Amino acid sequence: MIQNINMDKITENYNILFVCIDSLRFDVAYEEEKSGGTPVLNKYGNWRKCQAPGNFTYPSHQAMFAGFFPVDEEINEMKKREKLFFSADTGIGRKAPEGTFLFSQPTWVQELANIGYETYCIGGLSFFDKRTKLGSVMPSYFKYSYWHPSFGCKVKDSTKNQVDFALKKLSEADNSKKIMMYINISAVHYPNYFYGKDEKKDSVETHRLALRYVDSQLGRLFDGFAKKGNTFVICCSDHGTCYGEDGMWYHGINHPIVNIVPYKHFIIEENTKDTIWPYIQYMYSYPHKTAYRNLSGINLKDWLHCLKGSNNSLYFHIPFCQYKCGYCNLFSVAGMEDNISFMQEYICTMEKHARQIAEAMPDGIFFNEMSIGGGTPLILPIHLLAQVFDIAERHFGIKPGIVPVSVETSPNQTEDEKLQLLKKHGVSRISIGIQSFNKTELEKLRRFHSPECAIKALGNIKAVGFPCLNIDIIYGIPGQTKDTLLQSLKQAVFFEPEELFVYPLYVKKGTGLYKTGIKPSPDTMELYICARDFLMSNGYMQKSMRCFQRTGSACIQENYSALCGFNNTVSTGCGGRSYIGNLHYCTPYTIEYTGCLKSLSDYIKQEDFLTVKHGFILSKDEQKRRYAVKHILYGSGILRKDYKEHFGSDAEQDFPVIKEWCRQGYANIDDNFISLSKDGIALSDYLGVAFISEDVREKMENWKPCII
Ligand code: SF4
Repeated sequence: MIQNINMDKITENYNILFVCIDSLRFDVAYEEEKSGGTPVLNKYGNWRKCQAPGNFTYPSHQAMFAGFFPVDEEINEMKKREKLFFSADTGIGRKAPEGTFLFSQPTWVQELANIGYETYCIGGLSFFDKRTKLGSVMPSYFKYSYWHPSFGCKVKDSTKNQVDFALKKLSEADNSKKIMMYINISAVHYPNYFYGKDEKKDSVETHRLALRYVDSQLGRLFDGFAKKGNTFVICCSDHGTCYGEDGMWYHGINHPIVNIVPYKHFIIEENTKDTIWPYIQYMYSYPHKTAYRNLSGINLKDWLHCLKGSNNSLYFHIPFCQYKCGYCNLFSVAGMEDNISFMQEYICTMEKHARQIAEAMPDGIFFNEMSIGGGTPLILPIHLLAQVFDIAERHFGIKPGIVPVSVETSPNQTEDEKLQLLKKHGVSRISIGIQSFNKTELEKLRRFHSPECAIKALGNIKAVGFPCLNIDIIYGIPGQTKDTLLQSLKQAVFFEPEELFVYPLYVKKGTGLYKTGIKPSPDTMELYICARDFLMSNGYMQKSMRCFQRTGSACIQENYSALCGFNNTVSTGCGGRSYIGNLHYCTPYTIEYTGCLKSLSDYIKQEDFLTVKHGFILSKDEQKRRYAVKHILYGSGILRKDYKEHFGSDAEQDFPVIKEWCRQGYANIDDNFISLSKDGIALSDYLGVAFISEDVREKMENWKPCII
């Protein structure tokens, strides 16, 4: 007897994956192994030539679930069988051989559930189709069992559908529990003629092509389990199938081709330690607001001269939302929409804030763009929304249609009357947070609008007509698949937005999702690649990891990066950040409701808006870092000559990591530019972290919510 694996150890802390490639013949599996036709399966060792436990699916599976897997061809006695799982009730003894998992339930699957495994069955053939009584027998051994027509043998994409579904279940599974999953791969079973080009009949050749197709899908499944943890995999066929040999057809009959099957088992090592999780930090500004600290002795009057000229943005922060989205770590409070008097007070304070800055500004200062963000600016009643535009015009000279004006909105608040007001005030860009058109995904995000409402809002925006529409979409939502992401993107593209921002899901401390323990999908990078490739083949250019712009759109603001907080920005409102020269400041960062509310109450009581109490003054070294972040992550790259003129040194000398990135294929240096490659852009949130100084890193790590 060969017993090379200790199942008692395996069942202590390994996941178990049982993949049965239904009907796979040994001769075909072996030939494909030798010819390299199954590269994924080949990675995990050679097939063993084994005796099948039955000659069709039902008896063979009943035997396997009772612990009787295919045994090596040369085994000639029951007692010499390799036993991974050993039933106490088969009449061949109640003492399990060493290294064997003893079970007293009808199947080892049920025993695994008793010791804490979450057991899943993903069916393929009709013996797993729970719409029938017979088809319900074997699925009933599992805690969770699934079957869908798209998993069946008549569907060409069945393995893809099964693997997608398995990965979805895997991503939703409780991380604290071990998983046992069985998958009945149906693709090789007849009919399989459609894997051949123009074939009309099943044959050994189409059987072979079906196996190659299965192999092309299994890598994702094995990788998915590797991300989950150490996994013991049993991979085999249940019986072979004939295509006319000796006059025999298919299976359920005894013939050496039916009775001899391929089998292997192997370990997939957990690879999370080696896998880069590339979503470390969204570097939309540098330094991050969690690195800001209390300041003293700073009067804005001493800094406003830095605004001379027109390289300035004006920003109004409206920190009110209908609900707090589960992933939101922005400064905003929910539930204020009926508290008109509070919002009124806020806007009046904002006016006081704007007036003090405007009166302190020396001559010769102009703004080349304006944005109103939040929060959800369109939650303001229409008269308060109009007041924001009045403040901009009265104090900063922003007249309708003179400079680009961008406004953020959410679907529930995108009403026609408010859009008409924006149009009247010359708003040139509307940015709407849709995130997904899939109801389940919106619920996962705790985003409180329906897909129908999002479509209606977009229809309203298009009907009123703005030069630039931006739609935000999120990927990496637990349970999101490439198909559901593509459906959302297709729906978004239908509205012909000039810009699309695709954001990876971050679950930050303090957010609603963080408290529920939900994590982004382990397939986030695959979803990113799917989104990027879709957009780039549908008329969009990639400007940064998140930003895609429609080719040929006349309205795109070239300095769109300023909207993310670059160049000088003067903010009014509570929670908005100002960047004036090398002074960055705002009210202390907080996410929690009570902290935000306290900041808002303090803001409304504030009399002096020229004394800066909380922020960060950038040294020359920090300015270099900011410049590098700004240009390499969001622009066309660092213009080497420009960098040298600014700082008197070479960027690649100041940041030796850039050369390492070039070696790894993440960046390119030519005579003029240092820029990220396509692979580098995909890793922006990982690579960008290299620009963070020790001082800023330490401050970010030690950040705690505080109120001045
Ligand atoms: S994500 Fe946007 S809409 Fe949602 S709570 Fe945050 S600021 Fe409001």
